[in-house]
Amino acid sequence: MSIKEIITVPDEILKKVSTPVEKVGINEKNLIKDLFETMYNSKGIGLAAVQVGILKRVLVIDVSTKNGEKNPMCFINPKIKKLSNEMSVYEEGCLSIPDTFIEIQRPKICQIEYIDINGKIKIKEFDGLLSTCVQHEINHLDGKLIIDHLSKLKKDIIIKKISKIKKDSNRIIV
Ligand code: ZN
Repeated sequence: MSIKEIITVPDEILKKVSTPVEKVGINEKNLIKDLFETMYNSKGIGLAAVQVGILKRVLVIDVSTKNGEKNPMCFINPKIKKLSNEMSVYEEGCLSIPDTFIEIQRPKICQIEYIDINGKIKIKEFDGLLSTCVQHEINHLDGKLIIDHLSKLKKDIIIKKISKIKKDSNRIIV
């Protein structure tokens, strides 16, 4: 297992559509372990494979980390089957977009079909924070980011700011 580097905007890979997994083998299981390790290390509550540069439809979530007890969940080839009309709003951040929080409205409840780590097809319903988190991560698999909810102008400002921080990251004052 290893902690992977998380890719940040404006890297073009984040805009790519990930490919479905055909079989859950050792590579996929190792990828899932790495995703969990990387997510916990970064104190995130969700991470998609594309965020570590792997274009497979795999994502991990654990919304319980704040309370101390872990509740790791992984999703392979997740598909949204149903969305509620009722909406909820969260201020969302993203490990690929440092120091940026955007208020986003999404369906409060979602029903997801996915393959679990044992290769079994599952259908589950999620509500509230978990629902938002699953939808955010599935967006990653389709190359969509939270900044895509903003106007082009606002999006450009955020990308410019992050690109500048990246460029200056080797600058030191002694
Ligand atoms: Zn994200």
